[in-house]
Formats: sequence, structure tokens, C-alpha cells
Amino acid sequence: MQGSYVLARNITSKNGNDQPLSPPQRLLDVECSGWRELLRDALQMDYSDWKQLEREYPAEWVRELLTPLPLTVEAREGAPTARVVCQSLLDVLIVTTQLDGIRGLRQRVCRADGCGELFPFGNYEGKIYCTYECAHRQAVRDGRKRKRQAIEKARNKPKKAAVRTNGRKAK
Ligand SMILES: [Zn+2]
Repeated sequence: MQGSYVLARNITSKNGNDQPLSPPQRLLDVECSGWRELLRDALQMDYSDWKQLEREYPAEWVRELLTPLPLTVEAREGAPTARVVCQSLLDVLIVTTQLDGIRGLRQRVCRADGCGELFPFGNYEGKIYCTYECAHRQAVRDGRKRKRQAIEKARNKPKKAAVRTNGRKAK
């Protein structure tokens, strides 16, 4: 097993105080953000296209994402229950991403300025904001922007308009 793999497995270790990260911690930090990006991208794609992620991410990561974690089925209180044993936080993230992928639950990034949240859009292909709040906030923002632009445009115009008005008055 490779070193980077082992590091990713220790994703739960965290520098709680405000000390600068040590070199191994920095490596872990880079790797964690790499995995976060990979899982985010996977959630926005069709499960059948995940193999293509190898173009942007280490092949071993993508292979790991595509490898199902051991699943056991057991009877709990009479009902069969599926169980995946996770060794780390990364395992949990991979499993939930896999389950979403298998269920065809694609997600997209909210288009509201400064949000960046992933959200499942289901059958609503046209949905571009994660919540009503984001949609409303962006609508207000866009409205203000349009108003500013209109004012700006009007402010830049007067010279020509004034000439025309003077011209008409002179008739
Ligand atoms: Zn949002």
C-alpha cells in the first residue's frame, strides 16, 4: 500500500490549534482538498462517467472511488440490513458518494455568488440555486446590478442627449 493512500486514510487527524501545519500535515491537507475536489466532481457526473476522472486526478484515487467497500447484510430486528464498515472519514465520504452515484443522484454547484454549495437537482434540470434563499438573494443582487448599470448608462449618455435636446430647442 502506498504512502499517500495511508495518509488519506488518516483524514480524521486534524490540527485543532492555530499552529502552522507540519510538512506531513501540509501534505495531508493538500491530499484532503484533492479528495474533496474529486468527490465534488464525481457528484456532478454520471456514475458511468467516473472513469474519466482519471484525466484530472490520480488513477489510484479514481480506482478507489470505483471500488465498492465491503458490504455485509445482516438481520437486525428481523429485517435484513445492509452494512458497510468504514475505517475512516474518507471511507464514509466515498461510500456516500458511491451510493449517490449508483442512485443516479447527480448534483450541481449553486450559481449564487459566493455560495458554491452542491445540491441534488433531481428532475429539475433548470434548477440552478441550492435553496430558495440563494435564489432570492441572487435575484435581489441581479436587480441591483441591473439598476446600477442603468444609472451608469444614463450617466454616460447626457453629453449626447444634451446636444440633441439643445438642437431641438434651437429649432
Ligand atoms: Zn446556494
